[in-house]
Amino acid sequence: MEIASVGVVGAGQMGTGIAHVLALAGYDVLLTDISETVLARALETIARNIDRQIARGRVTAPEKEAALARIRTTLRLADLGACDLIIEAATERESVKARIFEDLVPHLAPHTILTSNTSSISITRLASRTDRPEKFMGFHFMNPVPVMQLVELIRGIATDEATYQACLKVVERLGKTAASAEDFPAFIVNRILMPMINEAVYTLYEGVGSVKSIDQSLRLGANHPMGPLELADFIGLDTCLAIMNVLHEGLADTKYRPCPLLVKYVEAGWLGRKTQRGFYDYRGEVPVPTR
Ligand code: NAD
Repeated sequence: MEIASVGVVGAGQMGTGIAHVLALAGYDVLLTDISETVLARALETIARNIDRQIARGRVTAPEKEAALARIRTTLRLADLGACDLIIEAATERESVKARIFEDLVPHLAPHTILTSNTSSISITRLASRTDRPEKFMGFHFMNPVPVMQLVELIRGIATDEATYQACLKVVERLGKTAASAEDFPAFIVNRILMPMINEAVYTLYEGVGSVKSIDQSLRLGANHPMGPLELADFIGLDTCLAIMNVLHEGLADTKYRPCPLLVKYVEAGWLGRKTQRGFYDYRGEVPVPTR
């Protein structure tokens, strides 16, 4: 089936980026969140980020105007029901996502495909909360969405081939590359990435190195473009902790236990860049390590 309209649930870091790339690729986008302020901020962020692409010669001013005109916002989740495809990108908590899908179901058109941008939660379990597990799958973008090339596509146990192919076509029209992953905790990218980040936090917790020396070691010693603690701040420490918890519970192996220091940062509300403080403090001119 041909997809023309896409509903995006959640206008945080990821939902904003997803709406941005979809609109530039010509899709009609309907974006929802729980507050008008978040939606207004998302539209400003999208306009500012497209300006950056214009400055680099990747997008033209008329393309920007056309893309912005394709994005509408609403506070009513039910309004998304008529879209051909829905991408849920709300907070990484299963109860939040399950509730969103349950609330959506009575308003959906028969053909609507449901997807989640979850980093780790079982697609099969989320699908079971809907009336259409065969039209449900994982659509996992990477952060920042306009920059990162990969999208993980995750089939739940019941996902049918037509749904997979329809989502694959969207990935291709976005100019991105799809990797197919099976539905096990955290799929491919985060199954490998998150234990590394968690180990970096243990390295800090045990006093093996400071924030600065750990990040520098991986940047210069392993050629990573960002240190693991910088990257954790960029992803959001709440999201990192949520993913570790899913790995720990889902795979029942103690090697995935979240570091107590990561838990402490999250309990403090130091969630990384989005709250201006995490392993670094971003409130000044340059980021300053917090340990
Ligand atoms: P975020 O905290 O920036 O944004 C989450 C948004 O969801 C918030 O704006 C919040 O108001 C909204 N929300 C919460 N409950 C809602 C509801 N009931 N209805 C509508 N909106 C609701 O988080 P994020 O980093 O954008 O992550 C969102 C999803 O994307 C998560 O599932 C996360 O695992 C996944 N993800 C994140 C990254 C990353 O690097 N941050 C990468 C890939 C995937």
